Amino acid sequence: MADPRGFLKHTSKELPTRRPVPLRLKDWKEVYEDFSHDKLRDQASRCMDCGIPFCHNGCPLGNLIPEWNDLVYKDRWRDGIERLHATNNFPEFTGRLCPAPCEASCVLGINQDPVTIKQVEVELIDNAFDQGWVVPKMPDVQTGKKVAVVGSGPAGLAAAQQLTRAGHTVTVFERADRIGGLLRYGIPEFKMEKRHIDRRLEQMAAEGTQFRPGVNVGVDITVAQLRLNYDAVVLAGGATAWRDLPIPGRELDGIHQAMEFLPWANRFASGDLDVSVLDENGQPPITAKDKHVIIIGGGDTGADCLGTSHRQGAASIHQFEIMPRPPETRADSTPWPTYPLMFRVSSAHEEGGERVFSVNTEEFTGADGRVTGLRAHEVKMNAGKFEKVEGTDFELKADLVLLAMGFVGPEKEGLLSKLGVELTDRGNVSRDENFQSSVPGVFVAGDMGRGQSLIVWAIAEGRAAAAGVDRYLMGKTALPVVIKPTAAPQR
Ligand SMILES: Cc1cc2nc3c(=O)[nH]c(=O)nc-3n(C[C@H](O)[C@H](O)[C@H](O)COP(=O)(O)OP(=O)(O)OC[C@H]3O[C@@H](n4cnc5c(N)ncnc54)[C@H](O)[C@@H]3O)c2cc1C
Ligand code: SF4
Repeated sequence: MADPRGFLKHTSKELPTRRPVPLRLKDWKEVYEDFSHDKLRDQASRCMDCGIPFCHNGCPLGNLIPEWNDLVYKDRWRDGIERLHATNNFPEFTGRLCPAPCEASCVLGINQDPVTIKQVEVELIDNAFDQGWVVPKMPDVQTGKKVAVVGSGPAGLAAAQQLTRAGHTVTVFERADRIGGLLRYGIPEFKMEKRHIDRRLEQMAAEGTQFRPGVNVGVDITVAQLRLNYDAVVLAGGATAWRDLPIPGRELDGIHQAMEFLPWANRFASGDLDVSVLDENGQPPITAKDKHVIIIGGGDTGADCLGTSHRQGAASIHQFEIMPRPPETRADSTPWPTYPLMFRVSSAHEEGGERVFSVNTEEFTGADGRVTGLRAHEVKMNAGKFEKVEGTDFELKADLVLLAMGFVGPEKEGLLSKLGVELTDRGNVSRDENFQSSVPGVFVAGDMGRGQSLIVWAIAEGRAAAAGVDRYLMGKTALPVVIKPTAAPQR
């Protein structure tokens, strides 16, 4: 146990400060300042090493949280990162981006702030990279078996690293020009700088994983070639089919899906855009610069559009959410140790913009084919359905509307239909307890089987699917599995 009296000495959770808003809006860098090891040690000392560590259950990866809190408290950072890597291939992603269900289920959270688990996680891995402790882990044997991983998001990367280390020859196919999935082109630079992906890819490449970006499987490589050339396939193509808003005026220019908008900004922030692509203000093809922006969707993707629009210099920004404003503290409907429904303020919200709750958009208005505004009204819930509140109609000016209403599942056309895999009622790829689809030798991990979810689930499923593949190829496996498949979305 860290310090038996730690939680009595340090009664509150402390996190690194965020850079001042005017400063951070001038660049795309991450918003957090450095956090000293002394402060982190104090925070780690708050862990009570509970007899039943509910945080283990809270984390889909089964991260060994009390163990690394204790090791950080004792200044044994190298042992700490080894225990962290034992369950998580990419703590630099989860440590920055996870909503931390572990903290929601921390026992200390019953009557105090929970332990700062996520911060301990990210400091452990960042320090390990700084110290040069993250080195390639070469496989002991080569099995001669070939595995294709389709999709290079966190699920595909986790599966690939596990399978490469088990001695298989692994190729990751990605249709985008760069590896990383939503980590690369969805999540903005200010939430996670892309250098964190690149240094992990260096390790993976040195271990022997092969990467083939710019290859759309099912188009550039046929399904027949895939099956012929590889002994097993892992489908990790994500849930990329977005939810639309088919209301009058949807056809107007200036209305875009979040995932049409965000990738441009990420390419821009990475310096990947040729000047010929930029407009006269040096902005990418879809930009919020000087525009009145309305984001429809109050979740994380909406917040990513908000922070991006701030940095591009929007004239005004509204973020609409159809659900009512959540309570300030944990709602009674989500008691400990469940993930709490409550009002959250992300770094992007702190930077400005107006959040509007209980609002439904009825129609987009426009002139000369371009959007100029929208008509909306308030709603309330009645018997589980949204009902218009009469007399609340209003109009709002908009030159850019961003739809951030989530994703309905994987794309069915092309790869999935050609492979002939069975789908669940929700339209995700169905799988058995080994993460194998209805087609023998074809496995599935992450959002493609689960529906739109979280990075931590994608990594957990990538690891579990890798164990399923290894068992299929070798008759047995030593790769760990912590979770069972479920089709329920977790986001
Ligand atoms: C804007 C945004 C912000 C988010 N922020 C967070 C966050 O802060 N924290 C969090 O936990 N989760 C977040 N999420 C959710 C999280 O990113 C996903 O749950 C996670 O990335 C899913 O991982 P995946 O590997 O299953 O799929 P993805 O990351 O979606 O990767 C799938 C990849 O497969 C590729 N692909 C698809 N079909 C083919 C094909 N036929 N051939 C080749 N390649 C193909 C796609 O191009 C894509 O790159 C966010 C999602 C979005 C959209
Ligand atoms: S991965 Fe997420 S749930 Fe697991 S320990 Fe880290 S922050 Fe907590």
